Amino acid sequence: FKPPNTKLPTKHTLPGVKNVILVSSCKGGVGKSTVSANLAVALRGIEMKVGLLDADIFGPSIPKLMNLHGEPRLTDRGKLIPLQNYGVQTMSMGFLIPHEDSPVVWRGLMLQKVLQQLLFDVAWNDLDVLVIDLPPGTGDVQITIGQLLKVRGAIIVSTSQDLALIDVKKGISMFHKVNIPIVGLVENMSVFICPNCNHKEHLFGDNGVLRESQRLGINYLGSIPLNRQICADSDMGLPIALKRDSTLAQPYYKIAGIVK
Ligand code: ADP
Repeated sequence: FKPPNTKLPTKHTLPGVKNVILVSSCKGGVGKSTVSANLAVALRGIEMKVGLLDADIFGPSIPKLMNLHGEPRLTDRGKLIPLQNYGVQTMSMGFLIPHEDSPVVWRGLMLQKVLQQLLFDVAWNDLDVLVIDLPPGTGDVQITIGQLLKVRGAIIVSTSQDLALIDVKKGISMFHKVNIPIVGLVENMSVFICPNCNHKEHLFGDNGVLRESQRLGINYLGSIPLNRQICADSDMGLPIALKRDSTLAQPYYKIAGIVK
């Protein structure tokens, strides 16, 4: 007996890519793209050959974070050649639309087509790890990627706020449904240390991500403070992980060490 409609789409590996790591968040604005860019830079820092794919097609921020602009060239076979900075091969929807400030208004088929192109028509060159920055939430794009790609694991970025943690469970169950292991949870914006008086403030709650990881039996990959330098360097297109000796870079190197 074979039950009907239970066939899942075949999962593909990507040519030129050994491992795929997804970076996801269940809410927007928790720092997913910042983690993706810094993780890619940190992996490069530990001698991995790294690619970064910005699949956040509605709000691509990787071009700015990696200080990369311009249109990708094509290979003889019509594949997109990634742009490169800081030793990280990078591809983003942001390179395929004419201006940074033009809204992405494509829907349905057009979106599917662009996504297919970003997933399957990029000429990655001999990567140990491809980091994919997913859109926030648990929508069609995330599920499509989860169903189509062979993925080593997913990292979920969250703050410790209850509002964010509620959605983390949704994210975890989505990855379970498409058979993707969870590498672990990253707590972003964990603590703010006042530069004047050194007072520590847990703006979004104290240890919420750690407690949730323990409750769900999932790895806790560490915490990243809310820090002005991380924000300012991001705006200049200089991921903080480039400053390898900075204490602010250490959380990203820790995660890199885990996923390498
Ligand atoms: P998401 O991809 O989840 O939407 P982003 O990575 O774009 O989030 O980050 C949202 C904003 O927060 C950006 O302005 C970014 O520079 C800032 N940000 C992210 N992480 C930190 C941090 N640890 N400290 C300070 N600012 C941060």
